[in-house]
Amino acid sequence: MSRMGVTGLGFGRYFTRHMALARWTHGSGWSGVELTGHGPLALSPAAMALHYGQAIFEGLKAYPQQDGSLALFRPGVNAERLNRSAVRLAMPELPEELFVEACSAVVRADADEVPRGPGQSLYLRPFMIAVEPSLGVRPALEYLFAVIASPVDHFFADGYQAIDVWCASDQIRAARGGTGAAKCAGNYAGSLAAKAEAVAQGCHEVLWLDAQERRWVEELGAMNFFCVTQDDGAPLLVTPRLSGTILAGNTRDSLLRIAPDLGVRVAERPVALDELTDPRGRVTEAFACGTAASVVPIGAVTTAHGRVRIGDGRPGKITTMLRDELAAVQYGTQPDSYGWMHPVRAPEAAAAPAR
Ligand SMILES: *Cc1c(COP(=O)(O)O)cnc(C)c1O
Repeated sequence: MSRMGVTGLGFGRYFTRHMALARWTHGSGWSGVELTGHGPLALSPAAMALHYGQAIFEGLKAYPQQDGSLALFRPGVNAERLNRSAVRLAMPELPEELFVEACSAVVRADADEVPRGPGQSLYLRPFMIAVEPSLGVRPALEYLFAVIASPVDHFFADGYQAIDVWCASDQIRAARGGTGAAKCAGNYAGSLAAKAEAVAQGCHEVLWLDAQERRWVEELGAMNFFCVTQDDGAPLLVTPRLSGTILAGNTRDSLLRIAPDLGVRVAERPVALDELTDPRGRVTEAFACGTAASVVPIGAVTTAHGRVRIGDGRPGKITTMLRDELAAVQYGTQPDSYGWMHPVRAPEAAAAPAR
């Protein structure tokens, strides 16, 4: 079924017809990529991922281009990050070509299911889990890598507006030496109670602080954090350094490269919660960013001491400019001067014999 131009897709609610699978076993290494129908996996109830949490994932999108073709955004960055997550969780690394081939195979097979309305795209969810049936506490000897795909709406399908964030008081997301920099399933499980707390406080997302001092802003549950400060009258785009407890977002990295080209200086440095919530402070804008939602303005921060508005509480100028510029690259409405877009070749081209 074609969902062209259909709204109400939401995020991760519908899946396309196909998925890609590859298997790893100790001794044989990785199998080739198999394209198959999207459907249930046969899994032993003793599959180790279910018990000891060897489960990592990625998220990237295929964007419809102006000529009707489809392109992945920086898939190599996701492939590398999956491997860093794999190393942290004592799982096998995956050749980058296999990762990109699996993503491309699903996009090619389900190209007719990619929604083409404004801001819509095909979200890809590559993941790897331990499938060996065993209750021994050790790295598994068998793994499954899979890519599934979901046609998704513009995150702001109901209108572009700022979100409220809740600064969790007693829980933490990641500590030095932990798994915070890995995109692993357990990090998300550990964040859900705080997210529920945020929602109960009338907020949309959790803004996590560092584990040690509970003083420094780290990131959101699934998005990196940025703010804009006025520094000698000129705007400065600031984001916390990757210290080992923050996930290295592809969107974060891309915005750090786009901003200077738009004349906005950038700095990676610690951001204190106090700096953000000082009503006489220099912070004029804040936003979160990630693949799923792109750029999300933050309008207010709520702590145990109350709610503090950021700027005028509405999406900031620089925030919106960065959002628009990133979208222009991703949807190909302006030339890809960064070389970030990875075209997914049509089946004819893929099938053509090499000469
Ligand atoms: C995935 C993720 C992000 C965003 O990364 P992108 O590559 O930009 O999508 C940020 N923080 C956390 C904790 C994440 O899991």
